[in-house]
Amino acid sequence: MDLKSGYPWWAVRNGLLHAFPPLQQDLQCDVLVVGGGVTGALIADELCGHGHDVAVIEQRDIGWGSTSASTALLQYEIDTHLLELAEQYGADAATVAYRACAEALPALRDAARGLRGVDFQRMDSLYLASRSRDVPRLMAEGDARRRAGLDARWQTPQRLREHFGVDAGGALLTRQAARVDPYALTYGLLQRLQRRGCGVYDRTVLEALQPGPRGVTARTAAGAVIKARHVVLAMGYATQHWLKPRVARNCSSYAFITDPIDAQVLGPLQQTMVWESARPYLYLRATGEGRLLVGGLDDAIDVPARRDRRVQGKARQLMKQLLHWLPQLQPTPAFSWAGTFAETADGLPFFGPHAQWGPRVHFAMAYGGNGITYSMIGAGLLRAGLERRRHPLQGLFGFERRA
Ligand SMILES: Cc1cc2nc3c(=O)[nH]c(=O)nc-3n(C[C@H](O)[C@H](O)[C@H](O)COP(=O)(O)OP(=O)(O)OC[C@H]3O[C@@H](n4cnc5c(N)ncnc54)[C@H](O)[C@@H]3O)c2cc1C
Repeated sequence: MDLKSGYPWWAVRNGLLHAFPPLQQDLQCDVLVVGGGVTGALIADELCGHGHDVAVIEQRDIGWGSTSASTALLQYEIDTHLLELAEQYGADAATVAYRACAEALPALRDAARGLRGVDFQRMDSLYLASRSRDVPRLMAEGDARRRAGLDARWQTPQRLREHFGVDAGGALLTRQAARVDPYALTYGLLQRLQRRGCGVYDRTVLEALQPGPRGVTARTAAGAVIKARHVVLAMGYATQHWLKPRVARNCSSYAFITDPIDAQVLGPLQQTMVWESARPYLYLRATGEGRLLVGGLDDAIDVPARRDRRVQGKARQLMKQLLHWLPQLQPTPAFSWAGTFAETADGLPFFGPHAQWGPRVHFAMAYGGNGITYSMIGAGLLRAGLERRRHPLQGLFGFERRA
């Protein structure tokens, strides 16, 4: 599965940071994590940090899937509003989900602590009303978020103009957000895992799985046999191929990054990410070097060759949208790309076992605009499952919620 087109910024910036060996012999471990993207890395880190004997296999180079294409805005704000989620699953469940996303931000900071070059920074997040008719909905959403104990401050049109140079009918501002280099984070976590004695293997393809009463036997394309008590499938959008019911639909998201912009021109955007209430939405945030990462214009294209052809045109459209909101910027684009993105009907992820494979095969489908935040939550959720504890989000983030 070809997950990206063009020049994903993180792979360009960092290159191949470390070569892990391919698996050339049989192996035995407590938990086998399949997939060396940010989801697999966070789950393996969580498990290893709590005494589990973990091994990770990746079919290509580490971080080379969707992780290298991600714009990595870390937010508690789910694509589905808190009020909409409350209508679907009840106010208590919706609040638990939103609060878990907020708590995932300091958890991500802790996971990144001590790793070099990962550019983890707390940021503010500005959620703009794209049209004036969205204003009452966003104000009500702000009230609901504050009632749920989350930070959400209403910004008037005057404040938006004076402080951010944006012309909009209103916005929600929160201090609960962050950014990270997801590719460097993934390498950093997996290199630390390797130093702790866990096996990390790239160029190792999972080909078959055989669950049994006491464990799971996995076979790689090169013929190695891995015996594990549990297997976690963190294969990004390819994970869907291992599940009969279709739980998400693939689409593409487009992004570009600018040359570094003078700090004075960037102003508050240095520490404020921006997105909007339209669907699909434009999203942007600065990097530590003062570049602006801009993404959006998601579409239903799932054919790599067709997506490749759209990258340049989409980058031009994104630039137009950016200048609509922030005409003072006039930035120079440096690289543009597209990546596969999956959406579930309700914007929530799926973590945990599915009846098709039994209790020892755990899915990690961190699908949605908050993929990385979900991966952090999923790490704790899957660990709870392996340790036979019930996690507060097991029902809402597991396959149980499907009708
Ligand atoms: C353009 C774009 C912008 C995004 N912006 C944001 C954002 O702002 N904030 C946010 O939180 N999320 C964002 N996301 C989503 C986020 O990037 C993803 O949720 C995240 O990268 C998924 O990581 P993953 O590890 O699950 O998948 P991947 O990074 O794709 O990793 C899965 C790995 O599994 C490997 N694999 C597959 N099959 C096999 C096999 N059979 N054997 C061995 N290995 C296998 C693949 O090679 C791959 O490396 C964005 C995504 C895109 C594309």
